[in-house]
Amino acid sequence: VQKYSAVVLGAGGVGKSALVMRYGKNMFLEQYDPTIEEEYDLTVEYEGKRSRLEITDTAGVEQFTGINESYIQKGMGFVLVFSLIQQASLKDVDHILQQIYRIRGGEEDIPIVVVGTKMDLTGEREVSSQQIQELAVQWGLPFYETSAKKGWHVNEAFNHLLGRMRRR
Ligand code: GDP
Ligand code: MG
Repeated sequence: VQKYSAVVLGAGGVGKSALVMRYGKNMFLEQYDPTIEEEYDLTVEYEGKRSRLEITDTAGVEQFTGINESYIQKGMGFVLVFSLIQQASLKDVDHILQQIYRIRGGEEDIPIVVVGTKMDLTGEREVSSQQIQELAVQWGLPFYETSAKKGWHVNEAFNHLLGRMRRR
């Protein structure tokens, strides 16, 4: 089977580990060690075809240093994660996106999906669906609103990325 790799990037605490664990193990915990970097080696069935998908759940909040650089160089595709209950985390995604375009300069059609997390926390929401729709057009990227806790739209986001990587 064909093998693909995805790197999950985003600010600390936005829910990267919860998102990947929901997709990889269909589980949700209340606590994840924020310092642990996890590699998932999954076999995924999507659109009638099986693939190996290696996902790197990155750790740390150092997205403004060079620490992302090696991840960005090696990833075939990227999941950029922000929290729907934290407006500032969307700025961090913007910054990571600029890093990707700089480091992978000139490369066309890099598979990227942007994922907003914690959709279940409706009362605390800071990022509106309208803002997301506008940014999706502006950035030319697919956005997904998800909840790792409830399992909403998590598979859709990763499967979309897998589809993009397959069709490259
Ligand atoms: P990371 O630092 O980006 O890996 O973030 P974590 O995955 O460790 O999540 C940070 C906190 O947010 C944890 O306490 C999670 O339980 C919580 N969390 C993550 N995703 C969700 C979600 O979809 N809904 C809710 N209610 N909490 C979430
Ligand atoms: Mg984590």
